[in-house]
Amino acid sequence: MGKKKRLKWTGAGILLVLAVLLFAGWSAISNTAPTAEAKQRPILIQGPMPIEAENFAKKLKHVKVEKSGTFVFYKGKLNNYPVIVVKTGKGMENTAAATAIAIEKYKPKAIINQGTSGGHDARLNVFDIVLGERTVNIGSLKTGDKAENEGMDPTAWKPMDLMASEGSAGEDPNAEKPRFYEGDKNLLAAAEAVKQSYSKGKVVKGTIGSADVWNNEVDRIKWFHKTYGTSVEEMEGASAAQIAKAYDVPFLGIRVLSNNKVNGGKYSPDTAAACQEYVYEVVKQYIKASH
Ligand code: SAH
Repeated sequence: MGKKKRLKWTGAGILLVLAVLLFAGWSAISNTAPTAEAKQRPILIQGPMPIEAENFAKKLKHVKVEKSGTFVFYKGKLNNYPVIVVKTGKGMENTAAATAIAIEKYKPKAIINQGTSGGHDARLNVFDIVLGERTVNIGSLKTGDKAENEGMDPTAWKPMDLMASEGSAGEDPNAEKPRFYEGDKNLLAAAEAVKQSYSKGKVVKGTIGSADVWNNEVDRIKWFHKTYGTSVEEMEGASAAQIAKAYDVPFLGIRVLSNNKVNGGKYSPDTAAACQEYVYEVVKQYIKASH
């Protein structure tokens, strides 16, 4: 081979190496962006009513609003971490649907369901906050067996666990119990860690009961408190907890007392904003602790 020919080959070799390096570099850059993004799965914050979601949504940066049915998702950033606030609407059905849609669409790392509630415990006052160590559906009930004209007796109704089996809950004696959903340990730890930041009342661990019912009968409220150990009642937490569990997504309910029939605590809508302020601190702490 002549000198000229060898030089030509070397030149071609260098060009080839450069091309390979350029390609590798380009694909490395184009690959890192989505991978880093994929690691940052968003934290989902649920609030049923406008007063229970919009304050939090206003705290996010770079917000994009997306709608699905009647559910409004505020996708934004908190300390540069992706957080989605969703206004679910009130009640179990809205909440279950909004939770499933959010999980399928946004793959959240964790879910917090928060908002107002009614007290079941006389030691808790309006503005106190309950961290849902457990959440339970208190509208899932089996009535007694009575024939025509034998009347009805709600004090004899039994809790019913629809998740006990895939068979008939009406026939299954093992289904005659409440189904409790456990609050996620890491979310609970974050909530406990920032307890001191809340000055409007106490923050306690407890049991959140949910149903599409507003109970105003004190004896019935006491029955729930005794039978399920409920600290508060509301209309969403247990449905979100059930769906989060179905997809294995960490979940926590956080509820402020807006009223307490048991000790005469009058309804205050200002509690909704106070709860969001506290949950904002919880989310910041959770982001900090999980990095
Ligand atoms: N007083 C409010 C009622 C809202 S409807 C108003 O007129 O605007 C019920 C909503 O408040 C639900 O989202 C539920 O989660 C919450 N809630 C607050 N206190 C409650 C209670 N004592 N029983 C049931 N839900 C309660």
